[in-house]
Amino acid sequence: MSKIIAFAAHPDDIEFACAGTLAKYKAAGWDVGIAISTNGEVGSPTLSKAEIAAVRKAEASASASLIGAEFFWLGYPDEFLFNNRETRLHYINVIRQFRPDIIICPDKDSDYHPDHTTTGQIIWDTHVMVTVPNIETKALACEKIPEIFYMDTVAGVNFMPEFYIDISDYWDTKEAMIACHKSQDSWMVDQYGVSTVEFGKTASRYRGFQAGCKYAEAFRKPKFFPGNTTRSQLMP
Ligand SMILES: [Zn+2]
Repeated sequence: MSKIIAFAAHPDDIEFACAGTLAKYKAAGWDVGIAISTNGEVGSPTLSKAEIAAVRKAEASASASLIGAEFFWLGYPDEFLFNNRETRLHYINVIRQFRPDIIICPDKDSDYHPDHTTTGQIIWDTHVMVTVPNIETKALACEKIPEIFYMDTVAGVNFMPEFYIDISDYWDTKEAMIACHKSQDSWMVDQYGVSTVEFGKTASRYRGFQAGCKYAEAFRKPKFFPGNTTRSQLMP
């Protein structure tokens, strides 16, 4: 069974950036995982940190269950995620538990939110280490290095796509997953004058327009040695 997992900083980031792609992979028979770095505790103008964190965990979990995704809640304080020994070992253990072929994570080079770039940087800094037995965690080392793809930024700002996934057949699923995050909807309307679904729809429609389909999600692939080139990229 092939496996794909998306790591994101906040409870609703995955829905906007790559929920349609995860739904498409699930439909193709892959095991899907969703991992959230922070607890979203600053995501309310009225509820306490503990109250909104509980609400957001329930919303994210409900969204993940819509596509039967395994759900990992890492629980770091919203806006205060740091790349250190403790967090790296935690992420290594989560990756080893799920044992993915592919990881989708925030773009550490193009994104601008500190929790996003830190999540992307931790994945980048650990994705080879997951195979190293002398770096010990509860879960055993992976046999192979997972392939990394960067997800789109919020509203596509500063992100130059290299790949598009046509999610036209999975827009309804993506919309339902975004709608799970009810706590963010009225706040989004108050702050930015747009509902969460309208926000996700506009971004997916725009990427679809670029890709020549109705709805799409965009990705980039970071380069490193080894594993820069896949066979499909070689000359025939
Ligand atoms: Zn976010």
